[in-house]
Amino acid sequence: MAVALPPAAVAENGVEVTVDETAPAMHMLIGKQRVWATPAFEDYMYMFFDLCDAMELQVGEECQIYPMNAEIGLNALATVQDGNRLILYDRRLSAEVGGDGAQMIIAHELGHHYCGHLGKHGDASLELEADRFAAAAMKKAGLSLDAAMSVLPILSERPSKSHPGREARVAAIKAGWENPETGKDCRK
Ligand SMILES: [Zn+2]
Repeated sequence: MAVALPPAAVAENGVEVTVDETAPAMHMLIGKQRVWATPAFEDYMYMFFDLCDAMELQVGEECQIYPMNAEIGLNALATVQDGNRLILYDRRLSAEVGGDGAQMIIAHELGHHYCGHLGKHGDASLELEADRFAAAAMKKAGLSLDAAMSVLPILSERPSKSHPGREARVAAIKAGWENPETGKDCRK
């Protein structure tokens, strides 16, 4: 598969990205933040392209997204900067959830892009759509349900304004993994 080259705006060494609560994230973002993001390490790039392939997304279109690493308080998010679609992933999350969990988180953020969730904050059901998409992608990429569930330690047990509680998210992950053909239902 052709690897997308970063646009000029995503310079080789990194780029400053402004994010706020309108960016769908693993955990709620508070206020506006400026963060320094660098092109993702190779392993995260491979995870990303495996997931794109598994979900049969179009290269250069649906897959025209740049995975980047940034220190954003053990969070991950989907955003757009100067028209470029980005996934920001805090590499320190990998110590909490392992490689499978990292892949699941990237799949979840890819789901937010695919489902068109950017800018629609404040609706917890969007998180369940992204979870379902992500679990379907993990299944189609040949990963186990346990691998998809390895994000559990970082999901909060209680629901918040922006995120459902852990129980609802576990159900969405299970549903997506068991019925991966429903992973793209968010666009219906
Ligand atoms: Zn999310």
